Amino acid sequence: MQLILPPLIRREQIRHKVSELAEKICKDIDVENLCVIVILKGAVFFATDLLRELPPVASIDFIRAESYQGCNSSGKVKMFDNHIPDVKGKKVLLIEDIFDTGLTTQKVVDYLREQSPKDIYLCVLLEKKKYRKGITISSDYVGFYIEDNFVVGYGMDYDGKFRNLPDIHILALDKSID
Ligand code: 5GP
Ligand code: MG
Repeated sequence: MQLILPPLIRREQIRHKVSELAEKICKDIDVENLCVIVILKGAVFFATDLLRELPPVASIDFIRAESYQGCNSSGKVKMFDNHIPDVKGKKVLLIEDIFDTGLTTQKVVDYLREQSPKDIYLCVLLEKKKYRKGITISSDYVGFYIEDNFVVGYGMDYDGKFRNLPDIHILALDKSID
């Protein structure tokens, strides 16, 4: 199977946007006291690029959560055995690849809120333009707003594939080509 669409967002645009986001975050937040939490696996490329544009942060940790099966949200969020740092009274920056139905991020935010952090800021590379039923959180920093298509690349996968593409593509598969 081969990707048949040209990139939706090219690496140069991503690079530029990541710098812009880092600048905004630095203006708004005292980065040196910031606990960063990255949602695995999709956000890992975005997070490592963004973090390299920030001054030293207080800590970087990872949470693994999953809600997609193939190209569709299962409607259920699976959280894996996660070691979460103590964020009580601290400012947290949550980094996620896509804000889609919002279920994953909502679950992670609710989980972190049990520890009474001072603030939680949500930074997402992509936000799909859509209505989100029952979601009370919103993103503080967004790279790109996109239409409601399934995308891959720059960390985002289709059943484990395409994560390491440097650009972001809308997924359209030509099954006639191997
Ligand atoms: P949500 O819980 O907001 O529906 O979805 C969040 C998670 O689902 C994202 O972290 C991502 O892992 C996955 N996801 C949502 N939309 C897409 C998409 O278009 N492409 C890929 N590859 N993953 C997606
Ligand atoms: Mg994800």
